[in-house]
Amino acid sequence: MSDTQIILESKGITKRFAGVTALDGVNLAVHTGKANVIVGENGAGKSTLMKILSGVYPEYEGQVLLDGEEVKFKNPEEAIKRGIAIIHQELNLIPNLSITENIFLGREIQNKFGLLNYKAMHEQASKVLLRLGFQINTRTLVSELRVGEQQLVEIARALSTNARVIIMDEPTSAISDADVESLFKNIEGLKKENVAILYISHKLDELFEIADRFIVLRDGKMVGISENAAKTSKNDLIRLMVGRDI
Ligand code: ADP
Ligand code: MG
Repeated sequence: MSDTQIILESKGITKRFAGVTALDGVNLAVHTGKANVIVGENGAGKSTLMKILSGVYPEYEGQVLLDGEEVKFKNPEEAIKRGIAIIHQELNLIPNLSITENIFLGREIQNKFGLLNYKAMHEQASKVLLRLGFQINTRTLVSELRVGEQQLVEIARALSTNARVIIMDEPTSAISDADVESLFKNIEGLKKENVAILYISHKLDELFEIADRFIVLRDGKMVGISENAAKTSKNDLIRLMVGRDI
């Protein structure tokens, strides 16, 4: 076992929307090679925190640290360049483009004449999808894929940018049980490659299958942390989430 390594941190993050304090002084540490699972009821602030870490919200109070140094992402592209990718609850693909075009959107490979090098892009797209156990003609339009397959395309896009932190916001909310199982296998594989997974969900049952550590948010505050998910009981987690016995 290697020592725990913190790749990404938030320190005292506060985020206000008109009239609403979505996050209130949140400290979070994200460990490499682990499934860092954020739990909390609807409205707890999970997505807002993830959007700050991934550059979607450039305005906030507090600090984000990457490899121990403060970063201030102005947009998601800057976060991606530093190895942080987010897969949103609502997938972010263009249905009438091919798998390859989606994976390389905005960072297309060109040949020396400035023309798009589709051959190279298809090859790389196939390769990265194979790492996820997905064998398919990458000329296929995204609209022809199941939601679970579209999610694989998003993960492939993250991997092809060499993401070291992959944030998944409620990734199982719209996919079949079989796709959930294959997603979990892929998460295990990514952990072995030392990718840090930041996984958001409020489906407690499935979380125990993949979580290495839990971070609990309630009403915009970090209210609990467990460094050993296997030793955490579901009841303890629920109590932390809702703030009382139920
Ligand atoms: P979660 O993902 O845990 O369900 P969110 O981060 O989406 O929670 O929301 C946290 C709180 O911030 C909620 O009260 C929500 O209504 C509010 N909120 C989130 N996004 C916005 C926004 N863009 N404008 C105003 N309020 C927002
Ligand atoms: Mg959310």
